[in-house]
Amino acid sequence: MITLNEKQTDEAAVNAPTRTKIAVAKGDGIGPEIMEATLRVLQAAGARLDIEEIEVGENVYLAGNSSGITKEAWDVIRQNKVLLKAPITTPQGGGYKSLNVTMRKMLGLYANVRPCTSLAPFVKTKHPVMDVVIVRENEEDLYAGIEHQQTDEVVQCLKLISRPGCEKIVRYAFEYARQYGRKKVSCFTKDNIMKQTDGLFHKVFDEIASEYPDIEKEHWIVDIGAAMLADSPEKFDVIVMPNLYGDILSDVAAQITGSVGLAGSANIGESCAMFEAIHGSAPLIAGLGVANPSGLLQAACMMLNHVGQNDIAEKIYNAWLKTIEEGVHTPDIYQEGTSKQKVGTQDFATAVINNLGQKPAQLSSVAYGKGIKFNMPKYMPKPAATKKLLGVDVFVHWNGRDPEEIAKQLQQLDTPEVKLSMITNRGIKVWPEGFAETFCTDHWRCRFQHAQEQPITKEHIVAILAKAIEKNIDTIKTENLYAFDNRKAFSLGQGQ
Ligand code: NAD
Repeated sequence: MITLNEKQTDEAAVNAPTRTKIAVAKGDGIGPEIMEATLRVLQAAGARLDIEEIEVGENVYLAGNSSGITKEAWDVIRQNKVLLKAPITTPQGGGYKSLNVTMRKMLGLYANVRPCTSLAPFVKTKHPVMDVVIVRENEEDLYAGIEHQQTDEVVQCLKLISRPGCEKIVRYAFEYARQYGRKKVSCFTKDNIMKQTDGLFHKVFDEIASEYPDIEKEHWIVDIGAAMLADSPEKFDVIVMPNLYGDILSDVAAQITGSVGLAGSANIGESCAMFEAIHGSAPLIAGLGVANPSGLLQAACMMLNHVGQNDIAEKIYNAWLKTIEEGVHTPDIYQEGTSKQKVGTQDFATAVINNLGQKPAQLSSVAYGKGIKFNMPKYMPKPAATKKLLGVDVFVHWNGRDPEEIAKQLQQLDTPEVKLSMITNRGIKVWPEGFAETFCTDHWRCRFQHAQEQPITKEHIVAILAKAIEKNIDTIKTENLYAFDNRKAFSLGQGQ
């Protein structure tokens, strides 16, 4: 255990501010250098931390652990609940699982928070007035990793979006805005196309936004929202997004501030949290002493805010801004004319230490006040809806190309009440009344519904599937078609 800023004597300890135990992973490549620099700044600033070091990453992978982390390391993280992590190297070749994805899922780190702020005119950027925080949902969406090959020609990946997942991330975004004095939360989805999944995210956004009347809210379809973000980031403040859009756009946002090397990120869960720089282990400059420790230092400030040491976070952040403003720059951001002094990793840290207690003159300083406290109530499940089974989509692997022909075969599966009503191919309606121009693969969705639009039973589905076996029709999966509280909860065929 390493102790930053020793515990006080017994009498003094009574009134001393709380200390926090954290786990630290020094990582690979430039990881150990930037971690050393960061810990020096934390120590000098008076951070009240007891550090337990763990090993994760390349050596653990190469020792035969495909997840890059040992059971002992998991235990330390779960006991301490907070991890400050330097970047790690994922070895080349197959079979190694991403440690970051594993950690997010295993520890329930549902919110990925990435502040992206321009430091103009001290760091070159096309967007000098940018100060955006991306809040990315971190556990669901296409990252559930549920993929299947279903036919010779078609593979699928399930996009799972849950109400608790949406509520947690959207509330986190609004709480973040309120606690950090931000004015607006924007939501990006593609709910004009994905009406169920992104539709739920948008709906929950509107519901939760109504609990925060003091904060402006807006929704953008992700494509035009992304274009606006890249072109005019000054229009945005906090942006909340489902996982995939957030993954892509948080990198875009960080890059257009001037450098991905400057940004940190927080991965927040209900009981654990992990803080890291957004860049990787930069193996080509490892050991040269030139890496910029700013990303990890930003992450450390987010960690200090998270554990209630806001005073220290504020002191470090303002000293860091002042150092950037003074033109003391590592080579990645050094620019003739703007920068004054080119320094290595440790000298940069020393410059930040020398500025502790000072504020920037031109860049906006931060003030975290008495502390940041999020109000995140436990998820309360809604009462169960009344659920009606209105039909079934039977997916079929069939190598023919003529929809009329497969329809004829599938109509043999009709029961007296439940009939084939539609066939789509990759979501496009091809029967009845399809277009000859529509390209068809070997993957057919065949919808069966009650002829009088009545609910059907699971016995109907079993009867349809039993007949399919009899008729040698290759069914590959089924999806039940439900109405929840009389609201149809499934997509129509494109063109239906
Ligand atoms: P990278 O971020 O390591 O490097 C990209 C470029 O940015 C390189 O030119 C590098 O020299 C430069 N750079 C990155 N951080 C810098 C810093 N602090 N100061 C100065 N320059 C910096 O990305 P990569 O090369 O694609 O990946 C290298 C390794 O890092 C891979 O093994 C990858 O899997 C891993 N990685 C880890 C994480 C993580 O642990 N969170 C994230 C991304 C990549």
